[in-house]
Amino acid sequence: MGLTRRALLLGGGALAGGAATRWIGGRNPSLAGTALLQPKGGAGVLNDASLLSETPIHRHLTLTEAPGDALVAALRKELREAAAAGRPVTIGAARHSMGGQAIPRDGHAITFDNGLVEPDRANGTYRVHAGARWSQVIAALDPIGFSPKVMQSNNDFGVASTFSVNAHGWPVAMGPMGSTVREIRMLLPDGDLVTASRSENADLFRLAMGGYGLIGLIVDLVVEMVPNRMLTPSFARMPAAEFAARFVAELRQPEVSMCYGRLNVERGDFFSEALLVSYRDAAEQSDLPPAAGSGWMARRARDIFRAQLGSDPVKSARWWTEAWLGPRLAGDATRNSLINEPVATLDDRDPTRTDILHEYFVAPERFAEFVELCRAVIPSSYQEMLNVTLRHVETDPDSVLAYATGPRIAAVMLFSQEMTARAEADMTRMTRALIDGTISIGGSYYLPYRPHATVAQLHAAYPRAAEFSAAKRALDPKLVLRNNQWDSYLGVEA
Ligand SMILES: Cc1cc2nc3c(=O)[nH]c(=O)nc-3n(C[C@H](O)[C@H](O)[C@H](O)COP(=O)(O)OP(=O)(O)OC[C@H]3O[C@@H](n4cnc5c(N)ncnc54)[C@H](O)[C@@H]3O)c2cc1C
Repeated sequence: MGLTRRALLLGGGALAGGAATRWIGGRNPSLAGTALLQPKGGAGVLNDASLLSETPIHRHLTLTEAPGDALVAALRKELREAAAAGRPVTIGAARHSMGGQAIPRDGHAITFDNGLVEPDRANGTYRVHAGARWSQVIAALDPIGFSPKVMQSNNDFGVASTFSVNAHGWPVAMGPMGSTVREIRMLLPDGDLVTASRSENADLFRLAMGGYGLIGLIVDLVVEMVPNRMLTPSFARMPAAEFAARFVAELRQPEVSMCYGRLNVERGDFFSEALLVSYRDAAEQSDLPPAAGSGWMARRARDIFRAQLGSDPVKSARWWTEAWLGPRLAGDATRNSLINEPVATLDDRDPTRTDILHEYFVAPERFAEFVELCRAVIPSSYQEMLNVTLRHVETDPDSVLAYATGPRIAAVMLFSQEMTARAEADMTRMTRALIDGTISIGGSYYLPYRPHATVAQLHAAYPRAAEFSAAKRALDPKLVLRNNQWDSYLGVEA
């Protein structure tokens, strides 16, 4: 997260008043709804990475204690006080969810600041503070030759956040990050401290995994790690229609440990070509170098990435860079270096626009239909798609709010959105069309992003949502643990 975005997130920097509004998308819209949506900022509000979720809060406190008695006492105090006043409580970490999922309206917002990581080599696990960021986990594991088993693609996020959205990464063939968590300790809404795992309080474990902080306040987790390795990339370019079959075949190769895909995004030739990138163990595994941050390639890539806005020729040039030039320049890298990437690498630095993510999960055999859906919906919208990454997610047998009820291809889409009411309206329309189309082919969508889905769409994509909400109400009758995921979705009658 670069300075501009960090300042805005903290409410410290008002957006440039009266800045000219640019429209970059495919059609020629009217001027209605073109005024910039400007977060007010200040102490009484909290925002998230979308910059579009500004919400009034009662207070925001940062807790720095290790996961011991002092932290538990501080959390119990907040729970007691909030319950007595009828206010909600929510913990957040980086607040990169994009629809207020980590913000309690008029409530007690808590942020953890403690990077405790205690590796246990004998058990292949580490105990970690709930608020530790993945950069801190990598910094602790890399020197002893280990690596997180599954984390999402950027290292700025909090470990309990990752469990609470049940994020996935690109190691293969793996399920979401929750599949690598052995146990958690959390405070329930009544202040009870419990341990939950697949064998102890298993119901609570399955509710909290992907439960958006609505079940308990997690204080620490025990998570699996794997040996760090030196990896060699290989690249294959192909028509998009062939991607799913080639991807699945690649996942079956036992020596492939990390794998992802990309599609081209020019409006004129949208989603016609695919790139498949796989990593296998390198021949040489001794003396692994320390985990690097962003390389010069990633920083140069940012400039090309941002220049794509509104320009099909630049989008074509970027695709050539990625699919032709990149493979010729790429070399070996350690697993830890590959995943040690901060969000700042792609920061947009433009106060009139914001980056918005979407993500859809479809079975590999329905992927070609998904590509056709995207070709029908996205290029004709006003939205600027800059990138799509394709990942594999194994079946999630644990989480009540599972998005991968079978093996899935995850399509992670990055849009640059104008910060105006008309762009919000267009994004809402496009999101709902993509969700409807995805549900019609048996797929699902991801919940940490903008709250544009309808409640009916949530229930269609997550058939156990009503069961989740009923269990939450039984556990938390005063509804002390709340955020916008509850207020706009899970707490709303279908
Ligand atoms: C640039 C970018 C890249 C991304 N890449 C991926 C990816 O590769 N794969 C993927 O699956 N997702 C990805 N995501 C989504 C990302 O994983 C989620 O948005 C995640 O929540 C971000 O972590 P955070 O620390 O910002 O979470 P926050 O927004 O701070 O919190 C997320 C949720 O976790 C809950 N929570 C946090 N801490 C606790 C706690 N201690 N106890 C109980 N509940 C808690 C919060 O209440 C909230 O509901 C990406 C998002 C962005 C913006």
